Amino acid sequence: MRKKVIAGNWKMNKDIHETAGLINELKERIKDFQNEVDVVLCPPFTSLVVAKSLVQGTPMKLGAQNMSQHDDGAYTGEVSARMLTTIGCEYVILGHSERRQYFKETDDLVNAKVKKALKVMLTPIICVGETLEERESGVTDRIIAAQIKGVLHELSSEEIQKCIIAYEPVWAIGTGKNATPDQANQVHKLIRKLVSQLFSWSLAEKLVIQYGGSMNAQNAADLLSQSDIDGGLIGGASLKSDTFMAIVQAGVEARIP
Ligand code: PEP
Repeated sequence: MRKKVIAGNWKMNKDIHETAGLINELKERIKDFQNEVDVVLCPPFTSLVVAKSLVQGTPMKLGAQNMSQHDDGAYTGEVSARMLTTIGCEYVILGHSERRQYFKETDDLVNAKVKKALKVMLTPIICVGETLEERESGVTDRIIAAQIKGVLHELSSEEIQKCIIAYEPVWAIGTGKNATPDQANQVHKLIRKLVSQLFSWSLAEKLVIQYGGSMNAQNAADLLSQSDIDGGLIGGASLKSDTFMAIVQAGVEARIP
């Protein structure tokens, strides 16, 4: 059975003091959980070192929200994959729709970043998803297929096993309007089928595919109990300990057959 992965994408929120406050609250509550799900926190770069010292000895792991496709050099403002691993990051979100929309990231660029992340054993959480216009014009499947092919281009079977895909319909991110459990599960099944065609069914059935887009304490149980939804990438609801832990709890309960 695939283990669920619940990841909080804090986006550009929480300075180091607020980071410490939220993680200390989460630490109190996470004591009740016994590694039934993987819990990943993705604060801004500036909070990662503080966050690392605070999650030490807890089941919570650390992820970044982005990284460079380059190893090092004259790339002002960028952070490399190795810089992330040296401070204890184990995950990195790549190709988030906000990076695609505001910073013009393409599937090719995301693919280059995925390869760099894998080289240093960072687990990439690779985001794909259609816009509202694309969904309404009936091209969701085509868009998702193109994105999956693009971001996984020339990965080996060993590499794909270390990846997580996050299906995040752009129209659901930060809007309070989540995909219905059935709508999301359909796309997750499509992604699994695409991966089985590119690699093999045995790899596809082990692949963790998270849902992201207005997941909250109320809708998490329904979404996470779908056959092909293996966790959540959570924005707004990850900024408060009670809502985030309610989603973690929903993940724990959803894994019980
Ligand atoms: C996200 O940013 O990845 C996300 C899913 O945001 P929200 O949960 O706020 O929709």
